[in-house]
Amino acid sequence: MPKTLPVEQYNTLIQSEERFRTLFAKSTDAVQLLDEAGHIIYSSDSVKNVLGYDPSEVLGLRPLDYAHPDDLPEFKRQYARLLKKEGVRIDVEYRVLHKNGSWVWLEATIVNHLQNPVINALVGNFRNITKRKEIERALAESEARLRFMAESMPQKIFTADAKGFINYFNPQWSEYTGIPIGKIRPETFGEILHPNDYEENIKTWNQSIATGDPFVYEHRFRAANGKYRWHLTRARPMRDAKGNIISWLGSSTDIDDIKQAQRRQQRLERQKAVLTEQRRQLVEINKAKDEFISLASHQLRTPATGVKQYLAMILEGYASVPVPDEIRSMIEIAYESNERQLKIVDDLLKVAYVDAGKIRLEEEKYDMVRLLKDVVREHDSVIRGRKQKVAWANKPSQGTVYIDVHLMRMVLENIIDNASKYSPEGKTITLDVEATKKHLIVSIKDEGVGIGEEDCKNLFKKFSRIDNPLSAIVGGTGLGLYWAKQVIELHKGKIAVKSEVGKGSTFTIKIPLAQQTTAKAAD
Ligand code: ADP
Repeated sequence: MPKTLPVEQYNTLIQSEERFRTLFAKSTDAVQLLDEAGHIIYSSDSVKNVLGYDPSEVLGLRPLDYAHPDDLPEFKRQYARLLKKEGVRIDVEYRVLHKNGSWVWLEATIVNHLQNPVINALVGNFRNITKRKEIERALAESEARLRFMAESMPQKIFTADAKGFINYFNPQWSEYTGIPIGKIRPETFGEILHPNDYEENIKTWNQSIATGDPFVYEHRFRAANGKYRWHLTRARPMRDAKGNIISWLGSSTDIDDIKQAQRRQQRLERQKAVLTEQRRQLVEINKAKDEFISLASHQLRTPATGVKQYLAMILEGYASVPVPDEIRSMIEIAYESNERQLKIVDDLLKVAYVDAGKIRLEEEKYDMVRLLKDVVREHDSVIRGRKQKVAWANKPSQGTVYIDVHLMRMVLENIIDNASKYSPEGKTITLDVEATKKHLIVSIKDEGVGIGEEDCKNLFKKFSRIDNPLSAIVGGTGLGLYWAKQVIELHKGKIAVKSEVGKGSTFTIKIPLAQQTTAKAAD
């Protein structure tokens, strides 16, 4: 008679088995027992949850036969390992067909208990991990997309973990630094950072890591050629749904060209400020000088004029006693010297006035040819005294212009006087007046000592006296042409010179034809 269990014990066993059955049935994992050949000999009800089949439908099947062809080789490899000995456990992820016809991912953990006298089977736990796999795939795709983006951007990109440890550099770093991709490590930053930027950089970075504030920093990185270039680096934290920082994404942009341009600009600004200040000082000095010249000239003029008057009176016989010839010639020399002195004072005064903007044109319609003829007539004795003559290149007709006759006369006097002064005896001064559509061009040509090319450039500047064979004999201040240029420009005209040493010079004045000029200097 078979031994029977006491009823109580029997009930307890039944209860316990029932509990496990229910537990497996409710489980989200399928628990299965397989024989040595891999056939399912037992399946928990929960296989329905995992693959949609009833346990009876899977009995006798081999999981191996239903794996996705792509996953089969690995599954088989693992399975062979599993069979080697008691206690071996394998973990495989593979795809298998669900009852509804779709592929689902399973995570199988199978343990070899073939030698276990109680179990005597392979014990498998199968879990549907399709959702997790999908998430993993989506994540991998998104990471690949991000990596592609990072690698195709011109900027240097890096990522760091929440603690600030850099864990990715895009290939642009290698390209820039010349350090091969695999060799770029977090310490690389230290190696390529300019020593002067290092300390502050680390401080700012640590501060951002500690506070979560974006990192923004300008620093120099060493390029493959050894030269440092300025970069602007920005890094922002990426946070999870709860707001915790999970990583940092940073980019470094080469701003060296901009920096250099900024520095050039700053340098220029500084130079400009210095120049402006120097100019202001110069203008002030110039003004003070002009005022001094003007004042001094006035002071000098009055006594010099007095001397001239008295010397003239003596020469004209106003003294009560006759002047012996010897004394007369001395007085004549004194008179000439005084004349020269007055000329210098007058030149200085004229320049002081023009520089101070005190010249006001009193314009009137006037015939330039007439004015020229007047000037020539007045200088006739001096010119003839030098055995020179004046000729006209063409028969002069008329050239009407709006001019300040008094000032223009002085300009012409100066040029004609120079033409005569700086020409040897017997030479000719040739005048010409020619009208173009809008201008009247007056030219005064001499056959004198001429002026070198370099000297021509400075001719119209203040105090420009040029060394020539006659300059020691003839007096002058080097102010006449400067003053003439200012006056011509007030008339909206131009003055120019063409000259050749030893052959002579031609001065030309170009004045707008009979058009009211508006140039008015302030009083
Ligand atoms: P000044 O004749 O009083 O020295 P100007 O300003 O009129 O001053 O002339 C400046 C200088 O230009 C003169 O010293 C002279 O050396 C040169 N110059 C002017 N006109 C002539 C000329 N026609 N031929 C040669 N040199 C000239």
